[in-house]
Amino acid sequence: MVMRSIIRIDEELCNGCGACISPCAEGALAIVDGKAKVIRDELCDGAGFCLGVCPLGALSLEIRETDLFSEDAVEKMKITLPKHYIVQHCSFCSVSEDEAYLLPVKRRGESKWVCTRCLPRLIHG
Ligand code: SF4
Repeated sequence: MVMRSIIRIDEELCNGCGACISPCAEGALAIVDGKAKVIRDELCDGAGFCLGVCPLGALSLEIRETDLFSEDAVEKMKITLPKHYIVQHCSFCSVSEDEAYLLPVKRRGESKWVCTRCLPRLIHG
């Protein structure tokens, strides 16, 4: 056990929409009984990329004693993950990730997806 940053989910706020599942590259989050859950603490690296996608502000980071993050556990988890995903859209033009490459961007605590066509506009204004 170590003290480290890890995702905290406010179950009162979470409506189980699932928007936070696919941004988690480690597969640490799942919807269980209609609520988002960290399925095993060792899968959450505490990077917080899921935070900005929650429409209800149910996700935050906390520092607490928990398991060490394990890249080995993540690799084993990825093998078992189903191949379906929740399609994300560009925050600027709404094109889906099935139609264009999307890149993660973050500003002032808010995470967004941006497609490669909108990225130059975002950079240059
Ligand atoms: S995005 Fe927010 S409301 Fe939706 S499942 Fe995740 S924590 Fe719950």
